[in-house]
Parts: sequence; structure tokens; C-alpha cells
Amino acid sequence: MAVKESNSVQPKTINVAIIGGGPGGLATAITLGRLPFISWTLYEKKPQISETGGGISLQRHTWRMLELMGAAQNISNDDFFRPPDGHTVQHRNARTGELLSQGFAPKDTPPNQGSCRMVRPKLQGALLKQVDQTKIKTGKKLVDIERLASGRLRIVFADGFEDEVDLLVGADGIRSAVRQFAFPTHSISYIGQSAYRTLISTASVDGHLLATSTPTVPKGPIFWHNVGGKYVFTCPLGGDVFEVTARIRRSPDSQDQVSWGQPFDFHQLLPEYAEFCPTVRAILALAAATGQTQEFAMFSGPRLESCVGFGSVALLGDASHPLSGAFGAGAGFALEDAYTLAAALEWAFSRRGGREGETGGVLADALGLYDRVRSPHYKGLYDTLDRMGGAVAALAKEGLPVDEEIAERVRRSKDAGNDWMYYHKADEVVRQAILEVEAEVGGSGKGDQVVVGALEVEVGA
Ligand SMILES: Cc1cc2nc3c(=O)[nH]c(=O)nc-3n(C[C@H](O)[C@H](O)[C@H](O)COP(=O)(O)OP(=O)(O)OC[C@H]3O[C@@H](n4cnc5c(N)ncnc54)[C@H](O)[C@@H]3O)c2cc1C
Repeated sequence: MAVKESNSVQPKTINVAIIGGGPGGLATAITLGRLPFISWTLYEKKPQISETGGGISLQRHTWRMLELMGAAQNISNDDFFRPPDGHTVQHRNARTGELLSQGFAPKDTPPNQGSCRMVRPKLQGALLKQVDQTKIKTGKKLVDIERLASGRLRIVFADGFEDEVDLLVGADGIRSAVRQFAFPTHSISYIGQSAYRTLISTASVDGHLLATSTPTVPKGPIFWHNVGGKYVFTCPLGGDVFEVTARIRRSPDSQDQVSWGQPFDFHQLLPEYAEFCPTVRAILALAAATGQTQEFAMFSGPRLESCVGFGSVALLGDASHPLSGAFGAGAGFALEDAYTLAAALEWAFSRRGGREGETGGVLADALGLYDRVRSPHYKGLYDTLDRMGGAVAALAKEGLPVDEEIAERVRRSKDAGNDWMYYHKADEVVRQAILEVEAEVGGSGKGDQVVVGALEVEVGA
């Protein structure tokens, strides 16, 4: 990435703290790390950068960002599972096994950007490789933020360590402390569902189904639907790893609502799946017997009107849109945020010529652009969720026979939702937004030469 040397004045350094070492924080470290006028430190509360949970889907928009960030090169074909026939997902009736619908990526999808699924630590490892790890401080839990008269922020950590920064990037996940500071009245709540995720051996699945004469499972990402929001998801993850995720309604009283990645004995829930077809029941039994299940109580919160605050705070990833894993693409959204934020900073800095004393103006321009690009995207996601939720709620009132209701649920969710978010091109959108802003303010004399050199590489090659 090359920021244009637009004048001879010594540019001021902008000090940035990134809170959180998940996909969003690491992607921010990569993108901001390419801006020579930024000095950044990433603070992570855990003792090391690590990931909990099972698998993660990489859709086309995520691959696009990984390529732009140079992290795609750190993922080999053995690291993930991609259905050989190119399908992106299957929806089946969990009771009968019937295939209800199957998705395929658009024909123009580059082969290396096809949808795939992998274990989460591999994605994290691929991002981490691109980061200057000397600037990561682990064991640092952010506990307090104070606005200083200078406009800067003082950030305080649980161990007493303090820092003072121009820009605070909240990439600290769904329970974001930075969001709480910027939007104190916003809150998230338990959605009444929990996910139980287990990793087992793919070979053991095949062997078990064969040995028990159970119909075999197709290889691919499959949602097995029942009524009442109860479903099971199965998918190989590359290598000999197979993911089994069960999502089910759980009353707030029946469990520790703050559980996130807690060990769980899945035998307890097997009776809940008595109506499921033999294939799914056999896989669930195998998961309970041979895997280690983790419980995730799902939380979400309303959309934020803005993902920036105080002229010095940017929220990204789950901190900016507490969607509880909706669309199975939150890591991709976080990467898009990180790309957009860096592009906005690069543009704003270049526009102001990087002059001493201009930090407040650069941040105002950059955060304004960042919010202008990303808030509507999140609005689109929330609106899509509302449409899907509305369609499903209406269906529940119709009293259809169970198998019909399952088929209708899949059909109507698809019609209401579609999958536009997987084909979003965040880099093109931010470039377009810069052109629009330049036109609105009378231009900076750069015409259509948009100054976003930070991440200019070929994608989809
Ligand atoms: C069941 C489920 C399935 C999902 N499936 C997919 C999928 O298939 N594909 C996909 O792309 N996404 C998926 N997601 C969403 C995805 O996991 C998240 O959107 C993504 O992890 C968000 O990244 P993030 O960096 O914003 O936050 P996180 O990954 O939550 O990272 C936040 C980091 O901040 C740290 N932190 C928190 N508080 C502090 C603090 N006070 N001080 C310092 N550090 C702190 C945390 O320890 C953590 O490391 C799924 C989510 C769920 C719940």
C-alpha cells in the first residue's frame, strides 16, 4: 500500500488502539499496518490470540477481503472443505432427509473465491501471519475509557496499564466495552436459543453410518430443519474434521446465559432430536459419544444508528452490529469494516495533506466516510433479517402440516432474504463513496483518481 506523498510537510502520526484480536481486530491491524502515518497497538484480553468454537464459512465477499489483505495466501486447499459440485448450501427436512433447496454461487465467481468451510483457528492463523505481532499486547482487558479535553482518549486496562490514543477501534466482539462507552444505552439480550458445536472425525462419520446401515450423509454444508427454529448443521471442514452444530430453543432459566464456548455434555439434549431422520440422529449420537461439545448462548441487540462516536471511536465487526452470527458471515463483515476504515483513513489523511494539527479533521473525515459506507450496509442486513423473521412468524400462524411448514419455511426465508451480502464488494463501494464525497465538497483536485492505494492488489485472480 502506498500513501501518496502529497506534500513536503512532516506528517503527524495518528495513534490508534485496536481492542480485540478476533477477525475484526486482526484485519484492522493488517490494514492500518499498511498506513505509514498510523501507529497502532492491538490489545487482547485473552492470554493469547485464540479462537473458540467449530467451523466458519468463507463466502465470496470474505475471500475477496482475505485476498486484498494478503491473508488468502496463508490458506491452503487442505485447510478447508469446498463441495466439489460448487453448491454453497443445502436445506433438508430434518425429519425425512428430503432435499428442499440447494444454493450455488453466481457463475462469475472466481474458483478460488467459492464458498467453503474451515475450522476457525485456521482463519485466525491466516490473518495473524500478516500482522506485525510485536505490536500485539495480550492479557490486556480494557475496563475504562476517558475522554480528555484534548479530544484524545485515555484507555485503562484491568492490570492498571494505561494508554492515550487519537483513535480507539472497538473490535471487541458482541459484548463490546467500547460500544458500551460510545452508546451507553444500547444493550444486547439472550435470543432464547443456544448453539451446541462439536467437531468429530469425518472418517468416523462415514464408518459409523456404514456400520449401522444408516443412509449416508451428502458431503457439504447442510441445514437439517425442523419446526420451531430447531435445526442441525453438518459439514466437513477439511482434513478429517467434521462439524456438527445443533441450534435449539433453551429457556433463559435452563442454563447459564453467559455461557460462550463452555464444555457441554450433548447426551443431555439427544432426546430433543428423536423426530429427526436416522442419519442426523446417528451423527448426533456419534458427536455426543466421541466429540467435545461447546455451548454458545446466543445474544443479539438492535442496530446502532452509527458505528462511530466522539470523533475518535470506530466500532467494527460484532461490536458494531450485534447480529448473533446471522447470515454466517460475521467474520467477513468484520473484514469489510477493517478494509473500509483503513481506506477512509488513507483518503482523509491524503486529502488533508497530513499536516501537523490536522488529526481531528482527518479523523472527522475518515470516520464520517466509514459510517456513511458501513451503517447502510448494516441497515440492509437488519432489514433482511426483519423480512425473514416476519415471513417465518406469519408462517407459524398458518397451522400447516409439519413437513409442509418446514418446506415453506425454507422457501419463504430464501425469498425474503436472498444472499446479496455474500457478493458485496466492499473495496468498490468505499471507492465509489469517496468519489461521491469528493463531488459533494467540490473535489480535491484529484478528479476520479481516488486515493485508496492501501490495499490495491488484484483480486479473484
Ligand atoms: C454460532 C455462530 C456461528 C457463526 N458462523 C459464522 C460463519 O460461518 N462465518 C462467519 O464469517 N462468521 C460466523 N459467525 C460470526 C463470527 O464468529 C463473528 O462475526 C466474528 O467472530 C466477529 O469477529 P470480531 O473480531 O468482531 O469479534 P470476536 O471474534 O468476538 O473477537 C473479539 C475479540 O475481542 C476480545 N475482547 C473482548 N472484550 C475485550 C476487552 N474488554 N479488552 C480486550 N479484548 C477484548 C475477545 O477476547 C476476542 O478475542 C458466527 C457466529 C456465531 C455465534
